[in-house]
Amino acid sequence: MTTRDLYEVLGIAKNATESDIKAAYRKMALKYHPDRNPNNKEAEEKFKEAAYAYEILSDDGKKRQYDQFGHAGTSHAGAGQHGFDGQSMNMDDIFEAFGDIFGGVFGASTKKKGGKSGPAAQQGHDLHKEVTIELKDSYLGVKHEVSYYHFVSCDICNGAGTSIGTKVDRCSQCKGHGQVQYQQGFFLFSQSCTGCAGKGYNIAHPCPACNGQCRTQKYEKFTITIPEGIEQDSELRVAKKGDAGVYGGPSGDLFVKIKILPDKKFKRVGNDLVCNILLTYPQLVFGCQIEIESINGVKELLKIPKGCPVSEKIVVSGKGFNSPRSAYRGNLVAITQCQIPKKISAQAKELLMSYAQYADVAEEADNSILGFFKKFLG
Ligand SMILES: [Zn+2]
Ligand SMILES: [Zn+2]
Repeated sequence: MTTRDLYEVLGIAKNATESDIKAAYRKMALKYHPDRNPNNKEAEEKFKEAAYAYEILSDDGKKRQYDQFGHAGTSHAGAGQHGFDGQSMNMDDIFEAFGDIFGGVFGASTKKKGGKSGPAAQQGHDLHKEVTIELKDSYLGVKHEVSYYHFVSCDICNGAGTSIGTKVDRCSQCKGHGQVQYQQGFFLFSQSCTGCAGKGYNIAHPCPACNGQCRTQKYEKFTITIPEGIEQDSELRVAKKGDAGVYGGPSGDLFVKIKILPDKKFKRVGNDLVCNILLTYPQLVFGCQIEIESINGVKELLKIPKGCPVSEKIVVSGKGFNSPRSAYRGNLVAITQCQIPKKISAQAKELLMSYAQYADVAEEADNSILGFFKKFLG
């Protein structure tokens, strides 16, 4: 490739650090960059030479070989193995290998030599909607209509944005780069192309249906299936039902958030379906079987044990919410409450009064136990 000293090529000392090497190469590469030196063979050779020097000196192994054996070391070390044998080295390889080092100074031109041939595809936005359902619907699952406005691909131009039979023209002033460069003295300036407002292309005949926007707004409604057991604030993703993309970009998605209204009788705790049941005092004392109607309208038999306290959980296994995340189904949990009547018949009152005497005894018995402990502790 070159017979010159590689440190000399980059203009650095032998003990230069890694960042010195990188900075020196960047400086040389920018100076001799072909975009700044069009049709300058000498500059191109210098540019390649600098790339070669950087390729060797930025690699620990190759640098060591070079430091020890000079150029003989680099060929021995296989500098050519990576397509860097100098003669066959082409500009695109250099851009590809060291593109990052230019830090985007040359913009698209270093990567896409041809510039833009048309507008860049853009993905459509995701859209969000809320749907409110009853707790019962979340228990059973439900179909729900969703209606909304969104952008859809224009069906006249098929989303191209151009009038039928016409196409996007690459800007002739900037050759699709969107930028034009001009030199003033030593300085090279770059500015947005006035021929295309920096886009790199022009649409001479926009589609009249969408005004060249590639898409139109549409009111749409469809039915979504909300699965049984869905939880509060869950989001259902409806693929591709967001806004259409432009210039061939993909559509966004529609996200439907589920809001669940509180129910008068039931509530959800984890995957359990929880409700209160009102029982009379005798029902709690003697135990009983009662039937309740669950949230889905199905009758469930509850067995209340003898001497059942208030706030006891009566569980009917597997009759709770279906869990969308596991195979496990929650339980129906009925919490016992005691019904205290505000009005009472004379007969019931009499019976209750006489019962109260016995209830006092029970209380005394409790007190006597308390008395025993007091005595014991005192
Ligand atoms: Zn159109
Ligand atoms: Zn232009």
